[in-house]
Amino acid sequence: MPSFVITEKCDGCKAQDKTACQYICPHDLMALDREKMKAYNQEPEQCWECFNCVKICPQQAIETRGYSDFVPLGSSNIPMRGTDSIMWTIKFRNGILKRFKFPIRTTAEGSVDPYAGKPTPDFANLKKPGFFNGPARTE
Ligand code: SF4
Ligand code: SF4
Repeated sequence: MPSFVITEKCDGCKAQDKTACQYICPHDLMALDREKMKAYNQEPEQCWECFNCVKICPQQAIETRGYSDFVPLGSSNIPMRGTDSIMWTIKFRNGILKRFKFPIRTTAEGSVDPYAGKPTPDFANLKKPGFFNGPARTE
C-alpha cells in the first residue's frame, strides 16, 4: 500500500526548501513538482508503508492505498495530529467511519540527542568485532 498524495489538498509545503514528506521519508521517495507545487511518491514500489509521511503532512494530503488490481478502492485512513494526540479516521469500503485517538510524544521535535551518554566513536575499532554502543571490549 504505497503512499499517495491527494493533489487537491497538497500545497507543496508552501514552497519551503524541503517539504515535510521529503524530510521524513526514510527511503527518500517523496519528490516535489516545483511547477505544480505538488508532492508525489517517485517510486511507489519501494515504499515501506511506514506511514511517516502520512502522519507528518500538515494538510492531511497523503494516504496509503493498495494497488487497485487486488484492493478495491474506497477505504481510507487519515490522521489528524494534535499537540498531544493523534486521531485516525478510518473509512471502510462500506462507508462505516471509525475514529481512534492515541497519545503521542511530548518531547519537542529535535530535542532528543540519540548519542547522549555514548562514547565518542573510535574509527580504529571499525574492523574489530562488537558494536559501537555494546558492552565495553576487554581485548
Ligand atoms: S507534506 Fe503534505 S502538503 Fe507538504 S508537500 Fe508533502 S504532501 Fe504536500
Ligand atoms: S510511507 Fe514511509 S516509505 Fe512510504 S513514502 Fe511515506 S515515508 Fe516514505
